[in-house]
Amino acid sequence: MKKLISIQSAMIVGCLSFTLIPLFYKVDVPGMKIPDCTMEEVIETPIFFFVSKMVVDKYGLEEVNTELDKSVRKSNVIMRNSCIPMKRTLATVETVDFNSASLFDIDQIRRQLTKRVGEEKVRNIERLPNQFYGVILADEDGYFEYDTIGTTNPDENSQFFMLSEYADEYTLEHELGHLSWAWHDDRSWFKVLDETLEQHTSEMNKDRLKPYARGYQCGGAGTIMSYESELLSIYSSPDITNNGRVCGDEQYADNARQLREFARDLKRKMQLQKAATL
Ligand SMILES: [Zn+2]
Repeated sequence: MKKLISIQSAMIVGCLSFTLIPLFYKVDVPGMKIPDCTMEEVIETPIFFFVSKMVVDKYGLEEVNTELDKSVRKSNVIMRNSCIPMKRTLATVETVDFNSASLFDIDQIRRQLTKRVGEEKVRNIERLPNQFYGVILADEDGYFEYDTIGTTNPDENSQFFMLSEYADEYTLEHELGHLSWAWHDDRSWFKVLDETLEQHTSEMNKDRLKPYARGYQCGGAGTIMSYESELLSIYSSPDITNNGRVCGDEQYADNARQLREFARDLKRKMQLQKAATL
């Protein structure tokens, strides 16, 4: 555990968020209790995937599509379980040849992507705040190392994420969680995560850091933003229990609230944008 926490902290210094390969496979533990949810009006969040040619050559486009579809469906289970009024949809899947580019940093990779697919395409995605886009890379592309399977840097770009070919069906929502300013759980004595986020978030985004936007563990498993080996299909929430243990804390672990607030904010931004174009 100590090792995991130290790896986590060290990595956050370089970039706001990395996701590690779990030590064991992940399952939904029976015994989870989810309260009835009065869902507000749901906002759709289309996701545009740009898949490295290396990945497509290895697995074939059909398998890539199947896996992405599975991830999007898992995200929507997590949305419903956590009473979050958002629906993930798969917008497009496009193959991109990164061959010969040296890929070393998330922002540089985003620029490389823009160069290859064209500025207009990226601008059209970023035009609407409810749209997200991500790059999926193979080992051979040379970016993902060690146990990392996903990356985001919401402080720099709040719509872009990266996944490794080894990402599982939970990784997509974990990264989209970061883009909604939801964070891991921090069980260190000295609140390492709080300090790290404070230090590495620019002034203009500091008000987006909420003390309750943290993951949690409950009844032998972790919520989606945690680093536990067994994951539950939920964001942390004091309204949900697993094996009789509450899966969040109103003050310190309510990522579901963070995501609900994010969804409301998105709806407000979309309405403002619509009004401006009328
Ligand atoms: Zn993470």
